[in-house]
Formats: sequence, C-alpha cells, structure tokens
Amino acid sequence: MSHIHEWVEQAGVTIDSETYRCAECEATSDLCHVCSGPSGGYGWICDGCLEREKRVLTSIERYLELWDERDRDRAKSPAAFALVVAHGSGDGGPSGPEDVLSVLWSWVARWTEHMGADNASPAEYLAARIMWAIHNPNLSGWDDFPREMRRARGMARSIVGLSPERLPQRCPRCSGGVVRDREEAPGVPCRDGLQDEVRCTGCRFVWRDEGAFMAAARVAVEHVAAIDPTVLVTREQARKIWPSVDRKTWHDWRRRKGLFDDGPEPAGRVSELVQRRASDVRHTGAEREMTPV
Ligand SMILES: [Zn+2]
Ligand SMILES: [Zn+2]
Ligand SMILES: [Zn+2]
Repeated sequence: MSHIHEWVEQAGVTIDSETYRCAECEATSDLCHVCSGPSGGYGWICDGCLEREKRVLTSIERYLELWDERDRDRAKSPAAFALVVAHGSGDGGPSGPEDVLSVLWSWVARWTEHMGADNASPAEYLAARIMWAIHNPNLSGWDDFPREMRRARGMARSIVGLSPERLPQRCPRCSGGVVRDREEAPGVPCRDGLQDEVRCTGCRFVWRDEGAFMAAARVAVEHVAAIDPTVLVTREQARKIWPSVDRKTWHDWRRRKGLFDDGPEPAGRVSELVQRRASDVRHTGAEREMTPV
C-alpha cells in the first residue's frame, strides 16, 4: 500500500542511504545535500530543493526575456521602468545580458565535458542536469553552483531594473536587510513600480507598509535603549525613535548638554533625557491643573 513516508532521523547509522527510516514501513532515505532533510530515497537532493534550484534557472531566463536593448542606457530609454535605476557598467555592476550569460556558459562548458552538448539554452541545459551535478560534485563543481546561479539571477534582475529597493534601516527582529520588491513574482513587474510591503531578507517577516515597519523598528529601538544602553544612535535616528521630542528640545539639548556634538550618542543617554523630560512635562501639567486660576 502506498503512503506518505514519515521519515525519522536515525542515530548512529553508518550507511548514508539509511540516514532516515520511515516510521510506518521499511523504507529508508539518504539526506538531501542542499537542505539536510530526507531526500526521499537514494538520491542526494529532495524534490523541493530540486524544484527550487530549477526555478532559479527559470527565473534567470524570464529576466533576460524582459531585457530591452534600449535599457542599456537607462537614462535615455523610453522602455525603462518608471522609478527604476538599474546598476550600469559605470558603477561596476553588470551592464547587459552578456554578463549573465557568460556565467551560465562557463558552467555549461564545464558540464559539457562530462555530459555532452545539446541545443538547449544554457539555463535549460543546466536545469536538466542538476540531478547529475549533485551526485558528481567533484566533476560538476556543485559546491559553488547554487550560489553562482543566485548571483547570476541577481545580475539578471538588476539589468532589467527589478532589483528590490533596500531600506536604510535594519530588521528589528533579526537585524537583516529590509527591502521593498519591484516585482510580484520573479520577472513580473509590479504595476505601481514598488510593492507597499516591507520584507526582511533575513527572517522573511513582512510588514504591511513602511509605516508599520517604522513603528515596529521604533518600539524595538526603545527596547534596545533599555536592554543595552550603550548602543549608539545618530541624531537622525533619535528623531525618528522619539518623535514626541520637538526640534527646539533637540536643539536645547545640543546647546546645553552637547548632545550629538561628537556624533552618535549611546541610546541610554538619549533615552534618559527623553524620560526625564516626559516626567517633567507630566509634573508641570499636573501642577497647572491644581493651581487655582
Ligand atoms: Zn513508509
Ligand atoms: Zn532538500
Ligand atoms: Zn528579519
């Protein structure tokens, strides 16, 4: 009877293909060399990882299909997506599809030595031989392959102007980079140019929009001031973290206390001033209320 195997990792096995054993039947499985989970049999890659690696290659092709030769000089191009500035050759980035294709072709050349050539496009050629490549890592150079293909995908996305926009802030949950995407799916540009959502590239958390992200970041930094008062904040950051402090007060603190005179300040110092001011405001307010008119 067929069933979905329930793989349980086995302790102390000496045969790789028995790394996992099904809880319900006698089947065993090797481990996937990409995600370290069960591969589902004797293979070294699981279905999910195989599909993911193939998708990277498919996306590269899809980006290259979006290339318009007029985009090479984006400043003059009528075809350039609004709002988007691609990295040009001027700043050392890739300048056209040939840069992306040369990465793919160098891998095709390496694999052709062992697997022979055919008429497929380079991305198709590689995608069709991932299974071979992972089982022959020394011949195929598999250890570098997934990373190189992601680099090529990044280049392809960049030349067609679909790289995500990086926000200057960091993720309050994991300190990863946060971005707003320019595409709905790989190679499918957003109609409005940019997604509203803010996405962390580290923990993958998604905020509804920049406002929600900033609110979360602010709460996190206020916590940081309490947990680790030595963390340094710049004047611009402090203004965003404590929006209730008006410009005049920041100016006062700078003049009277030298706040931010020598660059960033420990969050604890700023937080203390903010709290003292808040309690002063409360007291003055309370006294005023009690003072008979
Ligand atoms: Zn089973
Ligand atoms: Zn896997
Ligand atoms: Zn994160």
